[in-house]
Amino acid sequence: MTLHTVSVLGATGSIGDSALDVIARHADRFSVTALTAHRQWEKLAALCVRHRPQIAALTDPAAARLLERALAGKGLPTRVLAGEEGQTAAAALEGTDTVIAAIVGAAGLRPTLAAARAGKRILLANKEALVIGGAVFMAAAAEGGATLLPIDSEHNAIFQCLPPAYARDPAASGVRRILLTASGGPFRKRPVAELHSVSADEACAHPNWVMGRKISVDSATMMNKGLEMIEAHWLFGVPRESIEIVIHPESVIHSLVEYVDGSVLAQLGHPDMRTPIAQALAFPQRIDTGVPALELVRRGALTFEAPDRERFPSIDLAYQALAAGGTAPAVLNAANEIAVAAFLDGQIRFTDIAPACAEALDRVPARPAATLDDALAADAQSRAATCAWLKIALPA
Ligand code: NAD
Ligand code: MG
Repeated sequence: MTLHTVSVLGATGSIGDSALDVIARHADRFSVTALTAHRQWEKLAALCVRHRPQIAALTDPAAARLLERALAGKGLPTRVLAGEEGQTAAAALEGTDTVIAAIVGAAGLRPTLAAARAGKRILLANKEALVIGGAVFMAAAAEGGATLLPIDSEHNAIFQCLPPAYARDPAASGVRRILLTASGGPFRKRPVAELHSVSADEACAHPNWVMGRKISVDSATMMNKGLEMIEAHWLFGVPRESIEIVIHPESVIHSLVEYVDGSVLAQLGHPDMRTPIAQALAFPQRIDTGVPALELVRRGALTFEAPDRERFPSIDLAYQALAAGGTAPAVLNAANEIAVAAFLDGQIRFTDIAPACAEALDRVPARPAATLDDALAADAQSRAATCAWLKIALPA
């Protein structure tokens, strides 16, 4: 058994909770070396007492000072860091071999990139990092000798359904298509005419998964599936034409791989993120997670349908952005982050989100995305354009 030393970036979030739950069940296999978050110092302080990391980092400097004060005199080995540098230091920490990349949004890009350059084993939840900087990120991982293990449930399912030799020789493995499953979110059956008046809490009430608020809204618009299509493109080197989105409201099958001989392999399980996280943490071994066994007979019928592309225009926007290439996915992601935050904040309607994303793709021309600076410039331009179009202030 290998003892893994783990940095959890975004430790106070929903993925952070699930990851630390699995880690705590296997203290003989994993030790926590770094924990990070944005500004939730009280929760991070409690996690430090429990996991005794070498580093605890908060982006917000005032919160970092409060954390430092809270930990003083507790006899912990923990050094408190602040700012984005703290996040990247936790990601590239010498004593860490495994990084759980679970910061939400573009804020995760630089820290996750630092883990890639430092050659870490990266358990990737932060899909936005790949959407913004796919080419740059994959090149950095290859150069740094990093290993990417997807923990987004669909990508983890695909990873489990691909043969071990896939990474070395994808062409020889006979993969024809990737079928990305989606629950359809809380508004799959809501009359379209009512969508303009749905509240943030309704959008966040996902039928099958408990998640952070940003990804919950993305699931309600189905932009989440669009971002995941782009994520799958980069992770598995598959063209967009070979990735199909299938609605599967029960969220039991987490995705499928179709082969040229007609075989279709699927991965099933309860919708509980501890399963994909544990699969990646212990890979290639398997460990207990506390997730109950899937009782197929009790579960009953599994159903499938095509997504309604008029109800969910975000899906086509994601295909359009990937087809445009270069910085277009970064533009789409940034517009979506701005619009989702504004919706959660009560500034715009649910039905303004997709048009804001479409508008950004029209207003900000796609350029080649050869460097991190190219991607970040497009991200900034899109945020400004989207705020101007929505007539809201640019968040600090
Ligand atoms: P969350 O909102 O619950 O947690 C986000 C975490 O990121 C928190 O710890 C927060 O402190 C931290 N954070 C936010 N802004 C930050 C910043 N500027 N700098 C540093 N840290 C910052 O979100 P979540 O649901 O855990 O999702 C995290 C990521 O995982 C997202 O990219 C999401 O798409 C992906 N993901 C989540 C799930 C899920 O079930 N929750 C499933 C698949 C993928
Ligand atoms: Mg997912």
